[in-house]
Amino acid sequence: MTFSFGGLFKQQAFINGQWSDAFSGKTVNITNPATNEVIGHVPLMGVEETNIAIDAADKAYRLWSKTTAKHRSLILRQWYELIVSHSDELAHILTAEQGKPLAEAKGEIAYAASFVEWYAEEAKRLNGEIIPSHKEDARILVSRQPVGVVAAITPWNFPAAMITRKCGPAFAAGCSVVLKPAPDTPYTAFALAELAHRAGIPAGLFNVITGDAVKIGAELMSNKRVRKVSFTGSTAIGKLLMAQSAATVKKVSLELGGNAPFIVFGDADLSRAIDGVMVSKFRNAGQTCVCTNRIYVHSDVYQQFVEKLAEKVSALTVGNGVDNGVTIGPLINRAAVEKVEKHINDAMMKGANLVIGTREASTNCFVQPTVLSNVTDNMLVASEETFGPLAAVFKFTDEQDVITRANNTDSGLAAYVYTQSLSRAFRVSEALEYGMVGVNEGLISTELAPFGGVKESGIGREGAHQGLEEYTEMKYTLMGGL
Ligand code: ADP
Repeated sequence: MTFSFGGLFKQQAFINGQWSDAFSGKTVNITNPATNEVIGHVPLMGVEETNIAIDAADKAYRLWSKTTAKHRSLILRQWYELIVSHSDELAHILTAEQGKPLAEAKGEIAYAASFVEWYAEEAKRLNGEIIPSHKEDARILVSRQPVGVVAAITPWNFPAAMITRKCGPAFAAGCSVVLKPAPDTPYTAFALAELAHRAGIPAGLFNVITGDAVKIGAELMSNKRVRKVSFTGSTAIGKLLMAQSAATVKKVSLELGGNAPFIVFGDADLSRAIDGVMVSKFRNAGQTCVCTNRIYVHSDVYQQFVEKLAEKVSALTVGNGVDNGVTIGPLINRAAVEKVEKHINDAMMKGANLVIGTREASTNCFVQPTVLSNVTDNMLVASEETFGPLAAVFKFTDEQDVITRANNTDSGLAAYVYTQSLSRAFRVSEALEYGMVGVNEGLISTELAPFGGVKESGIGREGAHQGLEEYTEMKYTLMGGL
């Protein structure tokens, strides 16, 4: 298969404004999860190349941070325009390496672009403060300065948006980035780097490195010139990076795993709740960290809810994301498929009912969307994030009890509540130990709001004006002797 996609399909890493191979000349193959075909290869880089990228990023940041906010804003705006005008090419690259249906890939590109647009605007609003002084002849100034070189490490489930959500605010604040994209989805990252280059992002400001995650990670985390790490991925790797960053006291932003509860009370608008659960459970084939994992439905409406859900799920179409009408693409790899199957088998062994789906083991990366009823708290799906198209429906009767069960996890990313009662909506959303709560809404992500979790789901926020502050340090200056 030959790709070009407007010159955006690159098979080299991007360091200091140059498309580069590994010093060893070695590469690794990248496959399409829908067809198992090799799409191409990328350089197998390690410590040495990472060090060179950090060096370039350090130099570029020193120049970039001195430019005006308006200058940075205009270049980010240009990047945004280029992403939007190349959204078809970007979406095809994304679907080829990641698997999500083309329509969803286009949606992701629009979402990814929205962060660049938003931070092009916010770049100009990084205001400081003047505090009334404690001395007559002095003034207290507080300003925001860029943190410096940023290591960005991103996952495969949103190959475009997880990059722009970090690079948009980093560049707006005056920082530079060394990005290590997920091994499965490097091509979207390279395409974004090419567009950033065309937009006028200077050499060294945005570097993209592929290869040995452990070696690249070790260099990024131990190098003193890297002042911040922004990571989206698994909780285990997030903990490792946090520990590694301690040695050089880097600023840390982590967006880790979730185990989202979706609570449907007896007074909920059921068809709205079904729409909400469909989008929050089956988007990206269930592979998002804010995907619903545990659906708690009040016993009064339980049977009705399960039937309606099964009806909607039966209309989903599994297949290659480039084919018309496909709504569920492949999972990212076989390990992901096996995890879903393990959750289904474990639940059924412990008494859950298969409402729709199959218990048959899959031989490729496709999994039939599945609904299980009579799911209970002792099943694996109650405590582990499935990250696949399995809707597990639990029953509850008491408000306090369902809040306790919803909070009974180390994760605290997203939660969803459906009720028509205003007082219950406030009471329950405030009691949920989560960074984000959707009330009568199943899709909460937007560049306008601060995205992030509590407990072991992470530290820091992405999006909104708070997302820009994460890439800055406060400087207090006392102007004395005035
Ligand atoms: P998943 O299990 O969903 O692939 P990971 O947390 O393993 O999630 O991966 C998220 C990102 O973290 C990827 O870019 C991956 O390559 C990277 N990563 C994995 N291990 C390390 C490591 N030891 N150091 C730095 N980055 C790592």
